[in-house]
Amino acid sequence: MAWDFSTEPEFQEKLDWIDAFVRTEIEPLDLAFSSHLVYDRSHPIHTTVIPPLQDQVKAQGLWACHLGPDLGGLGFGQLKLGLMNEILGRSNFAPMVFGCQAPDSGNAEILAHYGSDAQKAEYLHPLLDGKIVSCYSMTEPQAGSDPGQFTCRAWRDGDEYVIEGEKWFSSNFRYAALAIVMAVTDPDVSVYQGTSMFLVPTDTPGIEIIRNVGLGGEAPGEGSHGYVRYNQVRVPADNLLGGEGQAFAIAQTRLGGGRIHHAMRTVGACQRAFDMMCERALSRVTQGEVLAKKQMVQEKIADSYIQLESFRLLVLHAGWTIDQVGGQKARRQIAMVKVLTPQVLHDIVYRALHIHGSLGTSNEMPLMGMWAMMPVMGIADGPTEVHKLTIARQVLKEYKPSEGLFPSAHLPPRVAAARAKFADLLEHEVAQH
Ligand SMILES: Cc1cc2nc3c(=O)[nH]c(=O)nc-3n(C[C@H](O)[C@H](O)[C@H](O)COP(=O)(O)OP(=O)(O)OC[C@H]3O[C@@H](n4cnc5c(N)ncnc54)[C@H](O)[C@@H]3O)c2cc1C
Repeated sequence: MAWDFSTEPEFQEKLDWIDAFVRTEIEPLDLAFSSHLVYDRSHPIHTTVIPPLQDQVKAQGLWACHLGPDLGGLGFGQLKLGLMNEILGRSNFAPMVFGCQAPDSGNAEILAHYGSDAQKAEYLHPLLDGKIVSCYSMTEPQAGSDPGQFTCRAWRDGDEYVIEGEKWFSSNFRYAALAIVMAVTDPDVSVYQGTSMFLVPTDTPGIEIIRNVGLGGEAPGEGSHGYVRYNQVRVPADNLLGGEGQAFAIAQTRLGGGRIHHAMRTVGACQRAFDMMCERALSRVTQGEVLAKKQMVQEKIADSYIQLESFRLLVLHAGWTIDQVGGQKARRQIAMVKVLTPQVLHDIVYRALHIHGSLGTSNEMPLMGMWAMMPVMGIADGPTEVHKLTIARQVLKEYKPSEGLFPSAHLPPRVAAARAKFADLLEHEVAQH
């Protein structure tokens, strides 16, 4: 009997250490500094405050745990990473202090899988050491979830590739040293076979940031999602990652990991909102009793707890499945948690916010900020609808159409067959009456 929902005591000790460390050492960073500074390596916190914290994480053997031992991580696997990311998901700065922040974690994974030794030396090792920031440049202004409409092109010219086209929402481009760019190299075949991936240093001539797009609520100029134009940008032919036409196969490695890691961190965010909801319900008095005594408040708490626990189990199960069969074969599980992520965040954060009344809507609580993350989770790394299509297509492969006009569950023939099977007994029953 292999089912087991327990955490081994040695790993629980690590989780307890992470929990205390995030609360005492990292959450103050979240309170004092803008979340943009996670990526802005020019800010003094990256030379003063952050490195000693990262050293403590390394001393605990918890650095870059999404990667295998050959790359300086512990090769925890996705299940342990899920438990750990739940805690890191409470904080903006924590993933960076633990060397596993998006999108660098996904970018490091594809460099580790597909990079040549030279590419690893030049880009992967500085990325793992936290010395540089990277970005991923795939979405275009006219097309995101439909890559068939991608027009950014790259072509070989002697020892170089030339990249021409525009990319949209390349997160952290303004802070990145390296952009991983997807461009069509063979327009005569399907985009899934004709697109390649390039490692592009962001100081390469010809790169133009049209503007840094901000999320709703961010002040103008604060944005960090690059609208980027590649004007005949030349990179050495060696900067091709994998082979020509392999971009989508490579992207699957990256986006699978990215999606599940967002979901893991969202479990932590939902837990945080739920904790706030319960504390407020026990503290706020109205009409002579605390909110926790009101049945409609109790219902909100029960519904939230059920959703949180179901989501958590599904995320951990998806992580376990990836550990067993790999990300490609766990696409259905990854898609399921991707779809649930904005939904559960929406429901729990909304209830927590609502129970706090006006205070919940104010900028004196973190709940409106958490609420703003909800639509992002439904769109970044592909919209909900596209992931639902993946789930439905995969599930439907396990079914076949019914034979004949009526469904296989149609009762008349089944009842007739059952009656025929028990004809003797049924006749006896009739005789008795
Ligand atoms: C915060 C954030 C960070 C991001 N970071 C990056 C990044 O670093 N690099 C990068 O390359 N991209 C990034 N993206 C872009 C993201 O990958 C795209 O936004 C996403 O793929 C959707 O593309 P789109 O915005 O063009 O929406 P569209 O493709 O125009 O889709 C719009 C809507 O149409 C509907 N829709 C689409 N397809 C279907 C369908 N098949 N069936 C039914 N309805 C459908 C959905 O409701 C969808 O939300 C980021 C996005 C966000 C929000």
